[in-house]
Amino acid sequence: MSKAFLFKGGRVIDPANGEDTVRDLKVENGKIVKEFSVANGEIETIDANGKVVCPGLIDIHVHLREPGQTAKETIATGTQSAAAGGFTTVVAMPNTTPPVDSTATVSWIIQRARETGVVNVYPTGCISQGMAGELLAPIGSLKKAGVVAITDDGKCIQNNELMRRALEYARMFNLVVMDHCQDYALTAGGVMNEGYWSTVLGLKGWPAIAEEIIIARNAMLAELTGCRVHCQHVTSAGGVRIIREAKQRGVPISGEICAHHIALTDESLKGYNSDFKMNPPLRTQRDIEALLTGFADGTIEYLASDHAPHCNYEKEVEIADAPFGIVGLETEFALFNTKIAKAGISSLPKVIEALTVKAARLLDLPKGTLTVGADADVTVLDPELRWTVRKTQLLSKSKNTPFDGTELTGRAIFTMVSGRPVWSLEKGILV
Ligand SMILES: [Zn+2]
Repeated sequence: MSKAFLFKGGRVIDPANGEDTVRDLKVENGKIVKEFSVANGEIETIDANGKVVCPGLIDIHVHLREPGQTAKETIATGTQSAAAGGFTTVVAMPNTTPPVDSTATVSWIIQRARETGVVNVYPTGCISQGMAGELLAPIGSLKKAGVVAITDDGKCIQNNELMRRALEYARMFNLVVMDHCQDYALTAGGVMNEGYWSTVLGLKGWPAIAEEIIIARNAMLAELTGCRVHCQHVTSAGGVRIIREAKQRGVPISGEICAHHIALTDESLKGYNSDFKMNPPLRTQRDIEALLTGFADGTIEYLASDHAPHCNYEKEVEIADAPFGIVGLETEFALFNTKIAKAGISSLPKVIEALTVKAARLLDLPKGTLTVGADADVTVLDPELRWTVRKTQLLSKSKNTPFDGTELTGRAIFTMVSGRPVWSLEKGILV
């Protein structure tokens, strides 16, 4: 296999270096290089004319489900799905079976990813033992074993004293605490956003205030402890406002937008299709507008999928009983491209910045740039490509997407990890 690659004539967008120029990009022996040392005959050319060449995309919020939930997804299938979405790095959430609250499980995931993954996998560890919200996990040992953040994602620590101590420990180890913001008492039995549509559909409401109260709690604890807190999947106008106000005071808090939360509203639930059931739930058009404004003005700096595979048999039940979440890696770029860049909310380089250098810096990952000497994680995007999502064609083991049949604009066409081509739109998985 070739060791040297020339991406020819693409629009190179590398936000880490403030670059947006049409030029060639050179890769040799797994790294970005300035000049080749090999002979011309040994160089493989990738025609990028009319396409965007950018650092491999990074998703900071992915559920790979392994260990223990391999009927839904495995590290192999989840990373193949990532590669097909243009992602060369994924940050794996710890709500597996067992949850990632011990160094043995961290090591197992890192080893398994080396053996079966096609893109880079960085694990996160739990905040609390067993994600039970009662006792802290061994945060220092988890960091030493290789976690890049701690989170009880899927669950939320209700005990504010425990959360305070988690932040104090995490700060000592320079770890970000990523929080799934949900007050349990306010969401008990909730299925969808509390509002007009939950009333019309007769489904139990899940009010935005349940998320906002925890975001406010996190802002206060981040200010108290000085620990960086990242609020996952922010969905409401109120949540954006709390983060904006806290950031203006210099509080080390951040937020992320997941693609489905700006693509769909709670009205989508009117067909009672459980592929529209997420946690937190789809909100209103007003919330979407606040999220988009928040991204445009820099309040919300991160974009993610919350890729959450579930089996058909789990989702094909009454909506109140179905699990929350959807697969997202393969539709993510297209949705952000369509809803943010094409819609004129912000620019394509800003979307790429959020999905590369910003994500890398949040979690101190040595990724997210095309600087000479960097790992050759490279994605080629066609931001103009129109395509229709077909759930049967997804590489994820699960097919729970609400976007089946939806026409989107923009798609990855080639993905390279450490100088190795791993996927192309034309040929599929290459390794
Ligand atoms: Zn999640």
